[in-house]
This record gives sequence, C-alpha cells and structure tokens, in this order.
Amino acid sequence: MANERTDLQVYKFGGASVKDAAAILNLKHIVETTVQGRPLLIVVSAMGKTTNALEEIYGLAYAGEDYDNQVKHLKDFHWLAAAGLSQEYATTRAGDTENLYDDLEEHFEELDQALVDISPRHDYDQQYDQIVSFGELLASRLVAFALNLYHKTTWLDCRPLIRTDRNWREGRVNWSVTEAALTKAVPPLLKAGPVVTQGFLGGTVRKATTTLGREGSDYSAAIFAYCLRAESVTIWKDVAGLLNADPKLFADTVRYPEISYQETIEMAYYGASVIHPKTLKPLADRHIPLRVKSFLDPAAAGTLIHDCQHPPLVPAFIRKGGQCLLSFESKDFAFISEENLEVIFGALAQARLKINLMQNSAISFSVCVDYAEARVQRLLVLLQGQFRTHYNADLTLFTIKNYDQASIEQLTSGRVLLLEQRTRSTFQFLVRE
Ligand code: ASP
Ligand code: MG
Repeated sequence: MANERTDLQVYKFGGASVKDAAAILNLKHIVETTVQGRPLLIVVSAMGKTTNALEEIYGLAYAGEDYDNQVKHLKDFHWLAAAGLSQEYATTRAGDTENLYDDLEEHFEELDQALVDISPRHDYDQQYDQIVSFGELLASRLVAFALNLYHKTTWLDCRPLIRTDRNWREGRVNWSVTEAALTKAVPPLLKAGPVVTQGFLGGTVRKATTTLGREGSDYSAAIFAYCLRAESVTIWKDVAGLLNADPKLFADTVRYPEISYQETIEMAYYGASVIHPKTLKPLADRHIPLRVKSFLDPAAAGTLIHDCQHPPLVPAFIRKGGQCLLSFESKDFAFISEENLEVIFGALAQARLKINLMQNSAISFSVCVDYAEARVQRLLVLLQGQFRTHYNADLTLFTIKNYDQASIEQLTSGRVLLLEQRTRSTFQFLVRE
C-alpha cells in the first residue's frame, strides 16, 4: 500500500555537519535531543571537503603521479577527528576506540590497494567510483563510533543494499532489488538502536562500488526513506532551511517555512544547491515530508517540504557556475532541421551532457551544459563530420523562479547577457562573470 508508513525517521548529515570531532559531537547532541527513542537511520556524507581531496588523489593516480602526501593529509585529518572523539570518551570505553582505529586503518589499506590498481588503460569513471567512495565509509565509521558510546548503534555498509547499474559516477538505482534488500536488512537492525550508513554510494550486482553523483547523499536519504516507508526525512544543513537564494552569494535571503515538492524540485533542477535534484521524486511518490533544518540551531523551525498549497512565493535566485555554451551550425549552412536536432541530441546523450538551456535560430542551435572538458571533447568528435561547433566555457547561468520585473532588474543590471529566456514562471540568462 503506497501510503502505509512506519515511524522511522531518516536524518541526513552533510559534509559540513561532520567536518571534525566537534561537529560530530554536535550531531550526537542533535540525535539525543530530537529522536527520543524512535527508530532512526542516519545517512552521512564524507567529512568536510574529503570528496574533493579524493578526486584530486584519483586524478594524480590516474595520471601516474605521486599522491602520497595527499593521502597522508587525508589520513591525518581523519585521525585527528578520531582522536578528538576518543578523548571525549577516554575514561569510558577504551576498547571501542581500538576498534575505531582498526576500522579506519582497514579502509585506508583498501584505499591504498585501490590506488595501486588504478590504470589509465581502464575506464576512468569506473575507477573514480572505487576511490572517491572512501570518504563516506570513513565518516560513517566516526559517526557510528560517537553514537555507539551511549546507544547501541549499528554501522551499515550500504553498498550491497543500494543496487545500481554500471552507470559509473551516477549509478541508476534498481528500485525493486534495493527495496527488497533494505526491507529485509534494516528493520531488524533498527530494533537495537540507530543505524548509521553512507550517503552517495551504491553497488552493482557484481559488488563493485558505484556513486550516485556529486552531492548525492540527499538522494541516498530519499532512497532509504522511500524503500523503508519512513515517516519523514530531515536534512541537517548549515543554513536555516530552504532559502530563496544562497546566502553565500546573495544578501537578504528569505526562508520558505513551507513549500511544495513541485516548487522544490524545480528549484533543485535549476541548480539551487540546497537539495540534490533527484531527492524529491521518491519522497513525493510516497508522500514523505522532508524537513531542512540547521544543525547550528536545531530548535529553529527550518523548512517543511510536503504536499501543500501555498500562496505565490517570493522570487528565488539561483546561480549555476561552470557552464558552457555550445553552438552548432550545419556545415552546408542549411537551416537546422529536425534531422539535425536528432543527431545533436543523440550525441549529447552519448557524451552524457545534460542540457540546462537551449535555443534555436535559423542556421544554428545552441545549448548550455555543465562544462566537463572530456565530455565536451567527446561531443565535438561525435559531431565534427556534420556540424561546425563553437563553444564558450566558464559561463554562469542565472535563474529567477517566480520572477517579477524588480527581481529581473536587480539581477541583470550592469551585465551583458549572452542568452536569455523567459517562461511564465522563470527568467534565465547566461553571462560571463
Ligand atoms: N561526499 C559527496 C560529495 O561531496 C556526496 C555528498 O556530499 O552528498 O559530493
Ligand atoms: Mg558533500
């Protein structure tokens, strides 16, 4: 039955909320003060900027360069957090501390081995997943350790349970296999106390690790919640809730106290960094409310995202950097036809480039995509026989959702717009900043 739900709560803690020992202790405090004996599953991202560090290490390994210093730095960083946590409990449970160090050490040994195995002869994206996944494994060990000192807590490896295909770096979830695996494995563990697991990760049928896309831990929380029919999901962030703009980029932001799934899906799609875009659909499908709350102020209201009607919202400002504008012209200067578009779209899909904006004119067709050099190069090769392609990287796409004239003027004044587009509810433009 689609609407039947359990009393399970899913909490997701992102990188900033587990960035060091003090942050993990704050997490523990939030769990203790908010959960009050109800079943809880905690999804954890990698600590701080660990995923970026692992990407760098992987890049070096793939290029055949030395990465020892970077690995050492990462190890020191995790050891420092482990030491901070152990110190907190030094007098209580010394044996647990040893286990923590053993677990971390084991992950680092696996990482060392995986790095030795990297070869430029093998698939880049597949090998990426084998390396970049370690951040979540390490962080979840530390969080489970901190919680376990007071409540029996289970560390759960999600990779054998979240089944994906081999679409490396953006694994597509096999929902029926995942739901069957999770409903079998997780409820018995929850009876004993909180379960701590990883965001961002999955696994293939042949037990290779996959990742779900950068910032994909929110999506993981939604996968768990959907499959386990959770009562709610809470994403703990360093902002007060869902805001109408990123406070790091815009002054005077406004928090939405309550907002529908649909509005939030659209904002995430346009690049609002607050929630991973894939997160909302599974939750909406099973009517599971999503709360966005601040881990710095856990008692504050935050934002409630659920099935609701609300009056028109204040305009939302969304900035998406790292964009690339590609224009295709047919080599014989013919008009861009549907046959041409079919070829262009096919090549974009093959190169795994996603269109953020597109525009057609008589003899050219333009698309704006997230700039990924290797993918763009692949696209150029695929289309070089038929089209002349120009491209411009380092651009920024701005979207104003629920715009009005004042908000357009506020954002566009003094800027040269390379491309603009307006629908009934959104105004978008591309600039070089
Ligand atoms: N650690 C991963 C990343 O930084 C996943 C996440 O944070 O959601 O992309
Ligand atoms: Mg992160």
